[in-house]
Amino acid sequence: MRIGILSRSRNLYSTRRLVEAAKERDHEVRVIDVLKCYMNITANNPAVYYQRNAELVEELKFDAVIPRIGSSITTYGCAVLRQFEVGHVYSINESIAINRSRDKLRAHQLLARKGIGQPVTSYAHSAQATDKLIESVGGAPLILKLTASTHGEGVLLAETKKAAEALINAFRGIGSDFLVQEFIKEAGGSDIRCFVVGKTVIAAMQRTAVTGEYRSNLHRGGTAQVIKLRPGERALAVRAAQVMGLDLAGVDILRSSHGPLVIEVNSSPGLEGIETATGKNVADKIIEYIEKDSKLGPNKPKGKG
Ligand code: ADP
Ligand code: MG
Repeated sequence: MRIGILSRSRNLYSTRRLVEAAKERDHEVRVIDVLKCYMNITANNPAVYYQRNAELVEELKFDAVIPRIGSSITTYGCAVLRQFEVGHVYSINESIAINRSRDKLRAHQLLARKGIGQPVTSYAHSAQATDKLIESVGGAPLILKLTASTHGEGVLLAETKKAAEALINAFRGIGSDFLVQEFIKEAGGSDIRCFVVGKTVIAAMQRTAVTGEYRSNLHRGGTAQVIKLRPGERALAVRAAQVMGLDLAGVDILRSSHGPLVIEVNSSPGLEGIETATGKNVADKIIEYIEKDSKLGPNKPKGKG
């Protein structure tokens, strides 16, 4: 197959591993920087062009693409991906599903509609609703989350009601969109990353925050270990990925006193942490899945919303 990896850089661990795995399985593979792509959206023949340098422009022809679109370029990246979809090119994750996953509010609503367990989460616009907002998640301590953030950067713990009010007012003051969420203290700064490909959790790890920190993101110094999933967790992760319409997803779960809760579904989960922690060849499993799934034809919209 001719496989295109939509990624800003071939030097990123995940991109490099996908290139290696595709070559090992005898595919032609290229890394494409979406910011160097352009397209005529009303052309009869939907195509994506690649500006290699000032003189050289070529039309991109792939049988399958693997989107690795960073959150800073979601809009343009998804537009390029959509153009491939219009041209009936298979993508392991579709643009609409990536967009769903990038908006935490939208993602929580979609998961709630399908009865997926999540921490109690609230959202409001009006300043008059602050008290109700705090009460609705059981009071302080509580978590505040910017709706469009990653790597734990927009996730804050308010230990007291006063701190919660101050943070809510500050977020409102700068016009940021945020969610208020029940703090799952008993998770003890750990979460579980389930790496879902198709309808299977192909690898899982537990990430634990450094001392004094509650966010377990590896980007924040969290450490990863292999973990044995409990039966309900595996099914929950697969279901969450399916509701979002993602065939490749990193589903993050917190172990709470009232069972496993999904906090996030990532559409471009990193490979470095999970391959290192589990010793599994995750990249190979992704390419193997694409070989099979792409035979079923170009994607039909999956998931809802
Ligand atoms: P990001 O997209 O920035 O990774 P997450 O929602 O995944 O945002 O939160 C980052 C980390 O913060 C999680 O991996 C988890 O360790 C911690 N966390 C998030 N939500 C909660 C919560 N409601 N209770 C306890 N810890 C949480
Ligand atoms: Mg996360």
